[in-house]
Amino acid sequence: MDNAGIHPIVKEVAGVLNRGGKQAFLVGGAVRDILRGKKAHDWDLATDARPEEVTALFKKVIPTGIRHGTVTILYKGVSLEVTTFRTESDYRDGRRPDRVEYAAAIEEDLSRRDFTMNALALELPGARLVDPFDGAEDIKRGIIRCVGKAEERFNEDGLRPLRALRFASQLGFTVDEAALGAIPGTLGTTAKVSPERVRDELDKILRSPRPSAAFRLMEKTGLLRLFLPDLAACRGVEQKGYHRFDVLDHSLLACDYAAAQGFPLHVTLAALFHDLGKPRTRELKDGVWTFYNHERESARLAENILTSYRYPNAIIHAAVHLIEEHMFFYEDVWTDAAVRRFIIRVGEENLEDLYALRNCDTYGMAGIAPSPSLLLPLMRRADAVLAQSRALSLKDLAVSGKDLMETGLKPGPGMGIVLKELLETVVDDPALNSREKLLEIAAKYSEAKNLS
Ligand code: ATP
Ligand code: MG
Repeated sequence: MDNAGIHPIVKEVAGVLNRGGKQAFLVGGAVRDILRGKKAHDWDLATDARPEEVTALFKKVIPTGIRHGTVTILYKGVSLEVTTFRTESDYRDGRRPDRVEYAAAIEEDLSRRDFTMNALALELPGARLVDPFDGAEDIKRGIIRCVGKAEERFNEDGLRPLRALRFASQLGFTVDEAALGAIPGTLGTTAKVSPERVRDELDKILRSPRPSAAFRLMEKTGLLRLFLPDLAACRGVEQKGYHRFDVLDHSLLACDYAAAQGFPLHVTLAALFHDLGKPRTRELKDGVWTFYNHERESARLAENILTSYRYPNAIIHAAVHLIEEHMFFYEDVWTDAAVRRFIIRVGEENLEDLYALRNCDTYGMAGIAPSPSLLLPLMRRADAVLAQSRALSLKDLAVSGKDLMETGLKPGPGMGIVLKELLETVVDDPALNSREKLLEIAAKYSEAKNLS
């Protein structure tokens, strides 16, 4: 086995372990990548050295997963996860092994791993391949197969079914029939997996080249109903007229487009969830399906989902906001004021993401790449309006609260109302944005409303 694909620093680290009388094997994703002829980036080592022995051999060691026998070595700018050979016999709650038991040899360590393609090791420094489960052959054929009996392995750790489908969309591999067939019967164990672990897999699916591959398998095996029931409910929700697909197929296509374009995660999530509210808002009016205000219901459902999977607040807010705003329909008759109101509502900093979401949505209607000319008129108008005198937020006003105080207006809620009114005025007509005119308008307005 050629070991040219292995980072020289990884070989150096293995050398340090070897000179300490210990074994070192490259394991996990890196071996898979090397066998597929891809560049490896994630360096996991397995060793017979105990964590404290590893720690003693290197200067910079972080006990990242000491309960599982894992430490992270920082060596000449490279970070490596080093895990002592283990067996895992006890997975009582369908989550993680309750305690770590060390194994004597690499073969035993490999037998606890989930899939044959992940149960390979390259011994360092010689790069001898250890492959007790024919993983190399499965990698060559692009097959995801469990080590041992699928049902047992899934009942040990309920995350494994989701990992299988995630790898399928990441690598473009096929999940073998035995593994796929074992998923429905082990959903009870999978249901106990922590939301954070599920989220990490969802993230990897969403960043894969074609997320729909995993989501379709999730649907087929019951995982979609388990983890994303509101999305599963979009199946069969027809929306004939302007759409060729039901709401689920449309959402998956939109999501695929986001992933293929490399859009940020919150845009990909928004693409997947933007129509979640359609099943609940659907009404037949004069023989045509309508979905009034579905974007608000979609936003509400998406917020619940993202919160329950413990997504960071920034991602939740960004995705939910895009979903809420996805139903804009620009026409050339929009006044500059209408364009300014649109920009204020969306937020200047979110325009690009909203355009991206619209392109996903358009792609999802027919599976055809959206023409750049679709959004161009709005983009041009928005750019033009932004280049004009700015009138988008209170800080763009030619007067401040302090100026208003000098005219006798007191600070407080009344002042806030006046400032908002001034902004409305200037959004409608930026020519009014001068100190003199605004003070005059403020005086009239506060007198009329009895605010001074
Ligand atoms: P990637 O890092 O690209 O997601 P990977 O295969 O390296 O892929 P990791 O989650 O980093 O995946 O895990 C490293 C290795 O640990 C896997 O290749 C597999 O052998 C083993 N492993 C990880 N999670 C499990 C699990 N839930 N059950 C059994 N073995 C696992
Ligand atoms: Mg890895």
